[in-house]
Amino acid sequence: MEPFVQNSGSPALFSLKPWTDRFANITAGFTGRTGGAGRAPYESLNCALHVGDFQEDVVKNRKMIAESLGFSLEDWTCGEQVHGAEIAVVTAGDKGRGSLDRTSAFADTDGLLTDVPGVLLTSFYADCVPLFFHDPVSGAVGLAHAGWKGTVAEIALAMVRRMEAVYGSRKEDIRGAIGPSIGGCCYEVDDFVMDHVRKIEGSLAQAEESADRLYRPSTAHHGKMLLNLKELNRRIMIKAGILPTHIECTSWCTSCNHDLFFSYRKENGVTGRMASWIGIKES
Ligand SMILES: [Zn+2]
Repeated sequence: MEPFVQNSGSPALFSLKPWTDRFANITAGFTGRTGGAGRAPYESLNCALHVGDFQEDVVKNRKMIAESLGFSLEDWTCGEQVHGAEIAVVTAGDKGRGSLDRTSAFADTDGLLTDVPGVLLTSFYADCVPLFFHDPVSGAVGLAHAGWKGTVAEIALAMVRRMEAVYGSRKEDIRGAIGPSIGGCCYEVDDFVMDHVRKIEGSLAQAEESADRLYRPSTAHHGKMLLNLKELNRRIMIKAGILPTHIECTSWCTSCNHDLFFSYRKENGVTGRMASWIGIKES
């Protein structure tokens, strides 16, 4: 069953239901593109400040989303994403970094972890893969932004290792989830990307783990491949030690569903960004 389920009402929010149903103290999910304040071509729930949108519209959207989740704009915490594999451990004093401007955000950071209640971790997407992490034993939560570069840099593996080091997490306790992003149906890549994929492919769990193939030749463009980044990240999570039964994976493709989601590829690069979020509620 699809784990990311759209809430009724506005703004458009897709809750990570298997987690929010099971772990009442956390909120986790992914925003859609509708129900916000943004104007074309960012209509309307753009969450990112780096894409040329009006700052006041983005802040208005963030405030609306945070409040819909029972948090406030002051709790919204994010990094400046660079398609790397750097991870920041967010403390109580970091709460709110990046919420109103880019300069206070964590520099060069694609992964965020915290065990502090009341912090709302967020990161931004238009086709790249949002990864979610939760250890219900230590209570830690995390997000990682994985485009093809972050994926082959194995940011999913780095997140698990960091949770083990910082929170004493056991990998068999950790839950992983893969959110709405461009699917293997639409994500055409060239040899340059495929060379990186093939370099890590041998170290990953083999096909018996899943019927989903990692890639197949494009029928539309000779020499190109259709890459399944979600499945690639799922196998990296398994390599990191997360149990396959502890991994949720979406079937939403952002490019196929650009009425619901922003898509960088579908909209030729000029568009808004969705946000992934995860946070521990204050009791
Ligand atoms: Zn698609």
